[in-house]
Amino acid sequence: MNLTDMNLEDLEKLLFAYPKFRAKQVFEWINKGVYIKDMSNLPKEIKEILLGLPFGGLEIINIDQPFKSVVKHLGKLEDGNIVESVLMKYKHGNSLCISSQVGCGMGCKFCASTIDGVVRNMTAGEMFFTVALLNRVFAEGTKRGVTNIVVMGSGEPLVNFDNLVKFIEFTRDRLNMSPRNITISTCGIVEKITELADLKLGCNLALSLHAPSDELRKHLMPVADSYSIKETLNAMQYYFNKTGRRILIEYMLIKDINDSTKTARELGALLKGMNCHVNIIPYNSVEEREFLPPSLKMVKAFVKLLEENGISVTVRRELGDNIDAACGQLRRKHISNNRNY
Ligand code: SAH
Repeated sequence: MNLTDMNLEDLEKLLFAYPKFRAKQVFEWINKGVYIKDMSNLPKEIKEILLGLPFGGLEIINIDQPFKSVVKHLGKLEDGNIVESVLMKYKHGNSLCISSQVGCGMGCKFCASTIDGVVRNMTAGEMFFTVALLNRVFAEGTKRGVTNIVVMGSGEPLVNFDNLVKFIEFTRDRLNMSPRNITISTCGIVEKITELADLKLGCNLALSLHAPSDELRKHLMPVADSYSIKETLNAMQYYFNKTGRRILIEYMLIKDINDSTKTARELGALLKGMNCHVNIIPYNSVEEREFLPPSLKMVKAFVKLLEENGISVTVRRELGDNIDAACGQLRRKHISNNRNY
């Protein structure tokens, strides 16, 4: 087991030959996002033991700040795999978008993350260390660190369920971050939505819907072959009933695919009366995919039609646009630039 995946008890067992406070020191350093070499109050002997074990952290290998409000990071995991995360500074706080898997196996036709499939799950410790590290780095010189986490980077979090739950518990217990400030984005794995609801952790759950009919959704997302929109929305309703967290729907607009006024009306009819909030995401072009972003005119018309149905809607600020912050694009670029043919 990685050190970052261990709880205090595990660390105490590991360091049983030393006074108990040593394990606590290690635990506290990890929770601050500090690497072993920088754990300054540990004796050399303990550091050497720890350095010989898998840590499960990540090393930031590239930072880019295309705008003042956006900082994108490429992280290298210990096995050399690359994951990405993006910090976005808003007036109301600082949001960190993290990945849950290396790559993705869901096969959505528009997404960059899934092009080479899933490589592996991230462990809870790896996800947690990403947050702890960036929280520390980000907090330096500012009044607050990470205030919100969105699990909307590469990967399908509900496929990596146990690690996801452990990650939420880690951030709650060790960084004192309320699950209310964590949002999990899923393409809609119905059984897992129900399971998460029953755990009543209280985090927010967002469904990537992207189409109002099963037929259109199947065209975009293979997951729609396994679950109908009806049963998926029922599961989201169940999540709301159990947790009281409002249903979040992500709807990405792709030019000429799902952005027509007819589609907007269908979506309006589908969601009418549901206690939900829709986040419209204009598509970010992906080199390997043929889809295109919608025109501003279509975005506005789409939003207006939804609002006319009494649905609460926001358009995602296009922070990611032109900066490769859309899902999986950073990582792909890094991999292809560093490939040895
Ligand atoms: N697997 C999860 C989380 C990762 S994707 C999910 O499906 O929700 C996070 C969001 O970004 C999803 O809504 C996804 O459909 C969307 N997305 C993927 N590629 C995109 C792109 N090129 N432009 C805009 N949104 C994209």
